Amino acid sequence: MAMTASELRWTRVAAHLHDALADASAPLCAYVYDLEALRQHAAATVRSLPPGFELFYAIKANSDLPILQTLAPLTHGFEISSGGELAWVREHFAEVPLIFSGPGKTDAELASALDLGVDALHVESQHELERLAWLARERGVAAPVLLRVNLAIDGLHATTLMMGGKPTPFGIAGDQLPGCLAWLRTHPEIRLRGFHFHLMSHQLDAAAHLRLLDAYLQQVRLWREQYTLDTLDQVNVGGGIGVNYREPERQFDWANFAQGLSALSARRDGLTVRFECGRYITAFCGYYAMEVIDVKHAFDRPFVVASGGTHHFRTPYAQGHSHPFRVLPVEAWRYPFSRPGVGDARVSVVGQLCTPKDILAQDTQVDSVRAGDLVVFPYAGAYAWHISHHDFLRHPHPSHWYLPTENAYAAA
Ligand SMILES: *Cc1c(COP(=O)(O)O)cnc(C)c1O
Repeated sequence: MAMTASELRWTRVAAHLHDALADASAPLCAYVYDLEALRQHAAATVRSLPPGFELFYAIKANSDLPILQTLAPLTHGFEISSGGELAWVREHFAEVPLIFSGPGKTDAELASALDLGVDALHVESQHELERLAWLARERGVAAPVLLRVNLAIDGLHATTLMMGGKPTPFGIAGDQLPGCLAWLRTHPEIRLRGFHFHLMSHQLDAAAHLRLLDAYLQQVRLWREQYTLDTLDQVNVGGGIGVNYREPERQFDWANFAQGLSALSARRDGLTVRFECGRYITAFCGYYAMEVIDVKHAFDRPFVVASGGTHHFRTPYAQGHSHPFRVLPVEAWRYPFSRPGVGDARVSVVGQLCTPKDILAQDTQVDSVRAGDLVVFPYAGAYAWHISHHDFLRHPHPSHWYLPTENAYAAA
């Protein structure tokens, strides 16, 4: 029977881990990134977009060079959120179109955005606008700007992580927008290209997200009429497409979403609509693998203690979920005494940190898990290593392995 694409990917990851295990002296702890899976997923996502829609990758989700090298030729550009990300990207990609967003940009960051060349800056407040205009005037250039707006939207379908639609530090509150637009009329150093919205992350409902985009586009249409804005060429609708870690078989229905976008296209009024997605692009390509050091019981509850922890893979703790995982059995056993393990049990998987918060999975059914086996967490390609507090307890960092794109496998 033919293997599904997902099983095939597991097989590759497992084969790589088993090879690595044979060489390892210390317990294995590693991130594995499947670049071919990333390439296929990103290419399919971009291909599904109707004309007039563009996809930028928000690199804060995972800014590793092999990830960016895989994505640069596929996406319309990168979204960056700091001077550090700007320098990192420009060091390796002289030409990739960039969007610079994020709160609290410093003068130095704004200046280097102007000097190194970005396609658009997303401005978060009147004061930031004034500083940017001042820096642009000094340089004799016009800064391409989208105003990030924090909009109250009727019937907004909230998710577990909201950046707008309520009081937050992000964007310009809707009631301050008229003041900013009036100020812009006398400041040609700023070229207003459009508006930016990023009200939420973890969106799992495609229909709700289409309704949200529809509300954005209606709002932009109203502003264009009301303030006779004739320089606009785009609307940035943010990222925020979620990954369902709790019920992995029920992911965001991108195919339906893309169809809905075609229907929404009439609302664009000729503007380009940009997405800047992070999680949805890279989450699926990453795996965090830990070798089981011990299996023990406490008050009848089995605990799997494995090499690594939330200092490498903070995602489950950050999101408050029990992360799905697989056990990869390893037959080799190096000790002359018996091997701890459990069968047909509900286990918690914990790491090596001296805190009860170091839990990656809770109360999860397994057929069998023993010391020396590997536990492997999928959906670990975004906001995983990059959001973790790596040096707490000074354990060694995990290995980072990047399984190459296509041809290497096509030959095999
Ligand atoms: C983090 C962020 C994104 C990406 O969000 P995802 O949920 O990863 O898609 C996009 N835009 C802005 C402004 C962000 O802060």
